[in-house]
Amino acid sequence: MTDTPSRHIVDGLVGAIGNTPLIRLRGLSEETGCEILGKAEFLNPGGSVKDRAALAIIRDAEARGTLRPGGTIVEGTAGNTGIGLALVGRALGYRSVIVLPRTQSQEKKDAIRLAGAKLVEVDAVPYKDPGNYVHYSGRLAAELAKTEPNGAIWANQFDNTANRDGHYRTTGPEIWDQTGGRIDGFTCAVGTGGTLAGIAMALKERDPKVQIALTDPLGASLYNWYAHGELKAEGSSITEGIGQGRVTKNLEGMPLDWAQQATDEEALTILFRLAKEEGLLLGGSTGINLAGAVKMAQRLGPGHTIVTILADHGSRYQSKLYNPEFLREKGLPLPDWLETAA
Ligand code: PMP
Repeated sequence: MTDTPSRHIVDGLVGAIGNTPLIRLRGLSEETGCEILGKAEFLNPGGSVKDRAALAIIRDAEARGTLRPGGTIVEGTAGNTGIGLALVGRALGYRSVIVLPRTQSQEKKDAIRLAGAKLVEVDAVPYKDPGNYVHYSGRLAAELAKTEPNGAIWANQFDNTANRDGHYRTTGPEIWDQTGGRIDGFTCAVGTGGTLAGIAMALKERDPKVQIALTDPLGASLYNWYAHGELKAEGSSITEGIGQGRVTKNLEGMPLDWAQQATDEEALTILFRLAKEEGLLLGGSTGINLAGAVKMAQRLGPGHTIVTILADHGSRYQSKLYNPEFLREKGLPLPDWLETAA
């Protein structure tokens, strides 16, 4: 008998975004008695979950007619959205200008430049300061809209709900299909809130019993907001891309069952175990997500299926969380194997 192979070809970089595998994490599943599954968003072509938001925002702006052929996309980002926008922009014929707080990892800055974007570094100051990267990028977009021959748009990932809609249309339904609808809980951290809100909406619509939890790093106010109705933050985190101080438009109306917190120590301990025992080298926000999945498993009890996001790859943070010197300086956990590997 001869096989008739079917063709599975996607169209360019844009076609390769999404449809990521859902990985069973052996160690965490054994330890909790739950099935802990990670959506492998680090396998997107730009290396993170933010490729989805970038594509969704660009497609939305095209459909509205605000983004014209050869136009410029301007955005303020912790890095990954910038990489996604720059790559998708290149694939579709747009220029991009990315505004980034200086404190973000060198690897992300290099990736943004390599993706062809103009990089503008600004001081890391709070959201209420007009110099904050989000406001800076909004002003820059307004200026460039007047001077660029093909116009410019502000992606505005925090308050542009095209971001959340992208996850509502793709990531959420993918998780539902991949688990065959057998999913008891979903949790992840929040940067813009697009990932959590979009997935929460898609899952709750299919089964209102699916529990949704926000997992915040220390230093983010949302935990206190959802748990105690107060936007206040204590502590700080070395994680990048997460930890939100306000309810963004993407978070408005999100169905949520509870909010919880995880520390950098908890996150790093899980990340280092996953790297050593399962060969999965992942970024800091993923550590918070996984610590959150474990907390959710403890709360729901054994026998449940819990999904979270593997947001980006560890190679994006080699100079930070996989760097013994950095970890020692911050007084963070440093496993022996990393000391000898680095
Ligand atoms: N993890 C990483 C590594 C990120 O870059 C981001 C986005 N800033 C997030 C998590 C959070 O995703 P979202 O913006 O959809 O809340």
